Amino acid sequence: MSTNHLHENLGPGLLEEVAPNVFSYVQPDGTWFINNTGFIIGNSGVVSIDTTSTEFRNRAYIDAIASVTSQPVKLLVNTHHHADHTHGNYLFPEATIISHASCRDVMLATGIPDYRAAFPTVDWGDLKFRAPDITFEGSTTIHLDDVTIDLFDLGFVAHTEGDVLAWLPDRGVLFTGDLIFHGGTPFALFGSVQGTLDALDVIERQEAEVIVPGHGPAFAGSQIKDVLDSQRSYLRFVQQTAELGIAAGRTPVEQASQTDLSEFQHLTDSERLAGNLHVAYRENPKADYQWVGFESAITDMIVFNGGQLPHCLA
Ligand SMILES: [Zn+2]
Repeated sequence: MSTNHLHENLGPGLLEEVAPNVFSYVQPDGTWFINNTGFIIGNSGVVSIDTTSTEFRNRAYIDAIASVTSQPVKLLVNTHHHADHTHGNYLFPEATIISHASCRDVMLATGIPDYRAAFPTVDWGDLKFRAPDITFEGSTTIHLDDVTIDLFDLGFVAHTEGDVLAWLPDRGVLFTGDLIFHGGTPFALFGSVQGTLDALDVIERQEAEVIVPGHGPAFAGSQIKDVLDSQRSYLRFVQQTAELGIAAGRTPVEQASQTDLSEFQHLTDSERLAGNLHVAYRENPKADYQWVGFESAITDMIVFNGGQLPHCLA
């Protein structure tokens, strides 16, 4: 089955002007490697927030930008290092790419990751590695004609070591990257469960009118508190589940396998529980826990799934 076929089954990315000249590009269904991007159009150039995973999806995103502007993408922001947000960097040759310093460091250390073992059905296309050109820590501001784009980090580890948020104060729009999976299971394996919880407080304090998350639909107004609270509930559930597992002397995968997801059953990619528990164990001072590494944690997610690989439609 080709990637293109799978893509057609899910439908194309949804382009929406969430504020004047500010677009979200939301890819259904928001599961593994099916992320969101967005862009801002100025008088003489475009700023893109992230790219996407496969060559096919990136070319579809480029076509979506071209459907509303003939201007080139001059600047590209990587919200974090994950492949679904950065694989398309090389397809924006005219763009200068900016990220957190840690994001670039991890990208240089890993190159294009080999996902064939866990995600064998994905047709990635002809990917070429391209790292960010400019890095920062703390905050910096992009001035795109009349639009201000404030980029800032959290000062702590959350989804990854190098998360960047993009805030448009004149438009009330916040791009959060994968600090939020709207409708999906939060994923802290490459970061921190507590940090991801703390990031939600930072996001709430921003008082955005519209939030474009890293996965799942954009949301606005009165929805914002509900979405943030729902993400908080899941992350606290992970911490409480870790407490139970530690008290019972179970490993993270043993604890995951006997956990009833109940109210979180509807969130996609539920096997992330096993990976998230490794991080919650690591962060719990009561645990006598040795970090097992990413590969073992991902193997535990497959065990949690009864031996099934993660369901990936990218
Ligand atoms: Zn991510």
